[in-house]
Amino acid sequence: MGKTEVRKDTYLIGLGVSPGIGIGRVCLLNRLYHVADWALDEGEVEDEILRFRNALDKAKTQLSEVKQKVASQPHLREHIYILDTHMLILEDEMLVDSTEVLIRQKINAERALDQNLKQLRLMFENIEDDYLRERSSDLDAVGQRLLRILAGANDTTLEQIKEKSLIAAHDLSPADTMQLDRNKVVGFMTDRGGKTSHTAILARSLGIPAVVGLDSATAVVDRDMPAIIDGTTGVVVLNPSEETFKEYLKRKLAFEYLEKELARYRDLPAETADNFKVALRANLELLSEVPAALEDGAVGIGLYRTEFLYMNCRQPPGEDEQFAAYSRIVESISPHPVTIRTLDVGGDKFVQGMNLEREDNPAMGLRAIRFSLREVDLFKVQLRAILRASALGQVRIMFPMISGVAEILACKRILRAAKLELEQEGVLFDSQIKIGIMIETPAAVFIAPLLAQEVDFFSIGTNDLIQYCLAVDRGNENVSYLYEPLHPAILRALKSVCDAAHAAEIDVSICGEMASEPIYAPVLLGLGLGELSMNHACIPRVKRVLRNLTRTESQLLLDDLLQLSTGREVAAHLDREMRRRLPDLFGEFVI
Ligand code: PEP
Ligand code: MG
Repeated sequence: MGKTEVRKDTYLIGLGVSPGIGIGRVCLLNRLYHVADWALDEGEVEDEILRFRNALDKAKTQLSEVKQKVASQPHLREHIYILDTHMLILEDEMLVDSTEVLIRQKINAERALDQNLKQLRLMFENIEDDYLRERSSDLDAVGQRLLRILAGANDTTLEQIKEKSLIAAHDLSPADTMQLDRNKVVGFMTDRGGKTSHTAILARSLGIPAVVGLDSATAVVDRDMPAIIDGTTGVVVLNPSEETFKEYLKRKLAFEYLEKELARYRDLPAETADNFKVALRANLELLSEVPAALEDGAVGIGLYRTEFLYMNCRQPPGEDEQFAAYSRIVESISPHPVTIRTLDVGGDKFVQGMNLEREDNPAMGLRAIRFSLREVDLFKVQLRAILRASALGQVRIMFPMISGVAEILACKRILRAAKLELEQEGVLFDSQIKIGIMIETPAAVFIAPLLAQEVDFFSIGTNDLIQYCLAVDRGNENVSYLYEPLHPAILRALKSVCDAAHAAEIDVSICGEMASEPIYAPVLLGLGLGELSMNHACIPRVKRVLRNLTRTESQLLLDDLLQLSTGREVAAHLDREMRRRLPDLFGEFVI
């Protein structure tokens, strides 16, 4: 694809999902390809076969170049097997011969390949053997590489990213995002995605400014194009003029200055002006974030998303490997508590090496606790590892996406069995370990009083709760305007869960992204929440707001908000009130 003509100061507007400003050059990872389709004349068939074979050769050359680079970097060596698998696929007759058969039927190479890939995918889905079935994602990766080559595209791979890169991609999976080198990547923009997609959540954890939901940015940008992304406002500027560049450089410095200023909140208590204490904890995806979480003043981990431990590896981590990871967290955060959430795969978190199929409707499919309750052996391995880590500090277990009491009872049965095994083996663990559940489904909201009888705590996962209550896919940019945390249905749902928890005298907290937005602090305070768990970088900002509020005024404000009938009205009222009450924090230059 040739250079696209893009005028100076071309603005694109998306969703700012990870604050900060990134200035650099575009590194195009992937665009959405339209698979070209045309019929061949008899005389063109041999040339088309040759074009296909050349594409295979080029793919092999690309892979061996990547392999050489990877081999020289010790921390990446474990990924070599993936490259070897991809090379083998390029020689597999199911891929090569069958595509050529289709080309001989006068179908152009990319359409023939695409048809063949669809066939093969269907075949893979029906394979009994887990390991083989998993290879379907490798086949997809190879297929996409070939389609890109046939389209004449010149995309970069994750391994080829240069310094000061602004990544542009049609879509980035959480597994890819995890691998971004934050020393090289100064920001990213994607066509797809919503604010609470796991890719966005990871960007915030990694401290990489990001704008998602740009719709068709990858059709406009080209590699090496100078660009700016503002992850706070969701603006992307392509080919910035000198003036714009200077303006954003100023904003970047101001942002960095504010970040440093906020650091002084680290050692101040998270307490309202009327002395209500709120425990501000961190959500954790990667082990490497623990020091930064402490640095930002987190008093414990309120949500450890263990599924990230399972990504980018060939096999699910075994008990000892998990125990090592959990103990590192528990020991480094001690004496504060750690809430370890059991595996939450599925949805937008696809993990290789698992008995997981691609589903038509993954958000409502075999996700989270449903998967663990099907794969009991895998579940037990994780529970044993968590229990062992509980001997080293304050650990709580949390089960994701619960929709009924029966699921909790099943979890408890398996937990009891794991405890019994450890007891018999003479292994230490906290026999009184607290167990809790995520409240993420409308069903859980309706039966919160029943669920509260079975557990020690609730943690409200607003990311999914909003998705399921409002029927809005959290990762779909086309409906992101409907994703309203202040929708009256959500406020009512939150209130009834908090009331049920308080009535049953169990702990209740929020660990969805709502907890990390300073503007929602009075709402959460008004609900009586004494614990919030969020991206660690947001803790100082939220603390600053809490210290300026009183619990009593927040309750009154929430009462007013509950009278309103649309999300928009609620948001406007809240915004107005916060600007009036705390102009320094919510005035012109919004935090
Ligand atoms: C949530 O759904 O709010 C949550 C915290 O879990 P996750 O974002 O990992 O789905
Ligand atoms: Mg969730």
